[in-house]
Amino acid sequence: MMLANGGVLGLMHKDLPQPMRPAAASWRIATLLFAGGSILFAAQGLNPPGYTLVLANGLVMFGLTGYLRALRQFYGLQDQLWVVVPAVLGTLALFWLTLVSADAGGRILVVSAVWSVLMVASIVLLISQERRDGARSRRVMAALFTAVAVFVMFRAGYYIALGVNPAFSVLGAGAWMNVATPMVAATLPVIGTTAFLLMCSERIRRQWERAASTDYLTGLPNRRTLVEMGEQRFDHARTSAPAGGFALAVVDIDHFKRINDEHGHEMGDVALKHVAARLQSACRGAELPARQGGEEFVVLFDHLTPQNAHAAGERLRNAVAQMPFVAGELVLPLTVSIGVAVLVQGDTSFDSVLRRADEALYAAKAAGRNRVEVAA
Ligand code: GH3
Ligand code: MG
Ligand code: MG
Repeated sequence: MMLANGGVLGLMHKDLPQPMRPAAASWRIATLLFAGGSILFAAQGLNPPGYTLVLANGLVMFGLTGYLRALRQFYGLQDQLWVVVPAVLGTLALFWLTLVSADAGGRILVVSAVWSVLMVASIVLLISQERRDGARSRRVMAALFTAVAVFVMFRAGYYIALGVNPAFSVLGAGAWMNVATPMVAATLPVIGTTAFLLMCSERIRRQWERAASTDYLTGLPNRRTLVEMGEQRFDHARTSAPAGGFALAVVDIDHFKRINDEHGHEMGDVALKHVAARLQSACRGAELPARQGGEEFVVLFDHLTPQNAHAAGERLRNAVAQMPFVAGELVLPLTVSIGVAVLVQGDTSFDSVLRRADEALYAAKAAGRNRVEVAA
């Protein structure tokens, strides 16, 4: 099963986005190491006993190291040397305890310690991503590691209670534990690989959703999100009692073409980001700024009355006018013209409110720019 899982992951490798491939490659190698170790455990009787045991345990410990590395790569962490230290020390210790001093009890303690360290490191890493990555698959993975880690610690305690000593044999008293161990441990390469693939696919879905709903340049919601949210809020305002409260502002940068013409298109892009940030900082509560397209933004207000529509527009205008755009030596005062429209009886759709705000914006431009006009 482990080999099959590792193989499937290998086949899928090219279907994963480039940034996820190193983590997937590490996970696959780890699963194959795990599988190799398991095969050696099964074939112990066929080989010289000592070496096989050391090699089998070593492969599994490096497999666990691979899982930790894969998770670190998945979350964009740099490779660090300490990650391989437990497996290297563990393998050397096993070598000593098998071929030099023949201490079976010591082997159990060393293997348990290495497994515990590597799994606790993986669990800590998974839990530390709670705020960045709300995916359920991450929690499943953390739960899986926790279950196996608890089992390994229980197993060590159980063997210690039985009285581990150099002559201890896992085939003697408590041999059931020796049967349970591979069954529990196999959940990591088998179920864990599925959880890992789900982590990848959830991340892909999130990235796709973000790309589809936000504007690449400014990071604000894009037109698609604006229309979605606008229609939703419009419908809500129309049907809820008392009706009303829906309002929006169309914000257009004044003489923006000049910035492109005088300072280049790239500087124009940076200026757009600056204005987007200023508008965002001026928004309160459920107010939603979005980039409608070009150098035009729309802000969806939250419960605005006709009486304070002008003040709300002024708040946005001031946020831009008060802080000039600065890039190195360059200091450019920027202004915006704003048209505000508040939902009225005659509005049949989100679009009709938008159209009235557009007309108000046109009036603000005609009246000299850096102004707010409220639609009649
Ligand atoms: P007005 O005060 O009448 O609004 O003048 P304006 O120059 O801002 O208006 P106009 O519509 O003539 O020009 C808008 C300019 O915005 C033209 C276009 O090149 C520029 N523009 C639109 N989108 C982008 C963008 O994504 N990046 C950059 N750098 N420029 C953009
Ligand atoms: Mg403009
Ligand atoms: Mg424009």
